[in-house]
Amino acid sequence: MVLRVLVKGAGVAGLTVAYELASRGAKVVVIERRPTLAGSASWFAGGMLAPYCERENAEEAVVQLGRGAATWWDKAIPGLVTFAGTLVVAPRRDAGEISRFATRTCNFSRIGRAEIAALEPDLADRFDAGLFFAEEAHLDPRQALAGLRDRLVAMEVGFCFDRTEPPPGYRADATVDCSGVAAADDLPDLRGVRGEMLYLQTSELSLSRPVRLIHPRIPVYIVPRGDGRFMVGATMIESDSDAPVTVRSLMELLNAAYALHPAFGEARVVEVSSGVRPAYPDNLPRVTRQADTIFVNGLYRHGFLLAPALARQAADAVLGDVFMKEEVNETDRQWRDA
Ligand SMILES: Cc1cc2nc3c(=O)[nH]c(=O)nc-3n(C[C@H](O)[C@H](O)[C@H](O)COP(=O)(O)OP(=O)(O)OC[C@H]3O[C@@H](n4cnc5c(N)ncnc54)[C@H](O)[C@@H]3O)c2cc1C
Repeated sequence: MVLRVLVKGAGVAGLTVAYELASRGAKVVVIERRPTLAGSASWFAGGMLAPYCERENAEEAVVQLGRGAATWWDKAIPGLVTFAGTLVVAPRRDAGEISRFATRTCNFSRIGRAEIAALEPDLADRFDAGLFFAEEAHLDPRQALAGLRDRLVAMEVGFCFDRTEPPPGYRADATVDCSGVAAADDLPDLRGVRGEMLYLQTSELSLSRPVRLIHPRIPVYIVPRGDGRFMVGATMIESDSDAPVTVRSLMELLNAAYALHPAFGEARVVEVSSGVRPAYPDNLPRVTRQADTIFVNGLYRHGFLLAPALARQAADAVLGDVFMKEEVNETDRQWRDA
């Protein structure tokens, strides 16, 4: 029997769940309330696949669930992931912050001026000390979402944009709700954590990997997107508002970018946006069930990092559950036929 699964939401959770289910033979339809992939929290992400750096503020579970993510993405969309590590630096006056960061993370090497210059020639002489997380990776979230949608279309997954309900007459054997912060009515523990970000463009600077500038007040990261574009992120504000970016946040993000390199002073500001991360009280994601719906939610600041592991768990739950129901039905049938 071919299993029919409805997936609600075409953010990173919904698309990875659809991919896991379709790869295992399910017939999947994805519904998305927006007209395109743009505008979800996933659309505004940095795309850092950084389990070890994230350990600074996250539980060990994030490292365990996230360490296979780069390989998963590379297999799903070959050529998408850049395996170049993460560089962490601090302004000279905050050099002590490097040691604090080091005590809370793992899998890095301590590096000095020469190594920083070798990794990122444009940052030569700007920082005396840093940490290099060689096993980390990054991707462009917008390319990842579009690439996954294209793979799914090729796998005969159906897409219905601009909809919150399945097409008339459609009947699913199972539903997986991946609607992010919009699921808060069904998941009362869920909250929004607002993240503001911007894109800068300059041909005066080149970076090969995400660079995190640690700072006691405004930690910031810059992720190169190629063609002179850089994503600068991100604020962490306890709010589910996706209103336009505030002046304070914009100033702080721009100041941090300028502190990393003054070439950003001449850069063009090509986008200023905000997204709302869905989070549970412990900031860890969950696969849960209510009646016939499985929810994949709470990916917080780790959507691209944790979605592959959560999607596998969700697919196991859907398939395991349906096979169980099938077995029950089969037992019923045997009784009836006896
Ligand atoms: C500024 C910023 C930077 C980030 N950087 C990173 C990073 O570097 N690395 C990382 O791993 N993570 C990062 N994240 C976190 C990551 O983006 C989130 O964890 C992730 O996007 C959550 O994905 P999701 O699919 O659960 O939710 P969403 O991306 O919000 O997707 C939910 C989708 O469901 C749709 N929907 C809602 N209601 C319905 C309905 N009733 N029917 C149908 N569709 C519906 C929505 O329109 C939306 O498209 C960042 C987030 C932000 C905001």
